[in-house]
Amino acid sequence: MIRPSITKRTCLECGDELMGRSDKKFCNDQCRTVYNQKLNGDATELIRNINNQLRKNRAILSELNPDGKTSVRKSVLEKKGFNFKLFTSTYTTKEKRTYYFVYDQGYLQLENDYFMLVENKDF
Ligand SMILES: [Zn+2]
Repeated sequence: MIRPSITKRTCLECGDELMGRSDKKFCNDQCRTVYNQKLNGDATELIRNINNQLRKNRAILSELNPDGKTSVRKSVLEKKGFNFKLFTSTYTTKEKRTYYFVYDQGYLQLENDYFMLVENKDF
C-alpha cells in the first residue's frame, strides 16, 4: 500500500497539529487573533515608547523656553533626560544651520555646547 507523504503542519500559535487545507496556519480564529495580537503588541510598545520620549523631549524644551527663545547648556538638556536622537522635523537655513524640531519646539546647536531653543508658532 502506498501512502501519500504527509508533512506535519502545526498551528503557529499553539503548536497543535493542523488538519485540512495545506495553506492553514492556525487551528482556529482564536489562535490567529492571539498570534497577531502578540506581533502587533511589540510594535505598539515600540511606538508607545517613542511617543513617550518625544512627549518628554517636547516638555523639556517647552519648560526651558517659556518665552519662545533662549539658550541652554547641553548638560542641562541631558540631565533632564533629553534624547537628541528623537525629533519630528528639521529645518535647514540658507546658512546650512539645521534646527531640529520636536513638534513646535526647536533647537539649534551653537558653539561651546550651548543650544538655542526656539518655538515655531506656525505649527
Ligand atoms: Zn492553535
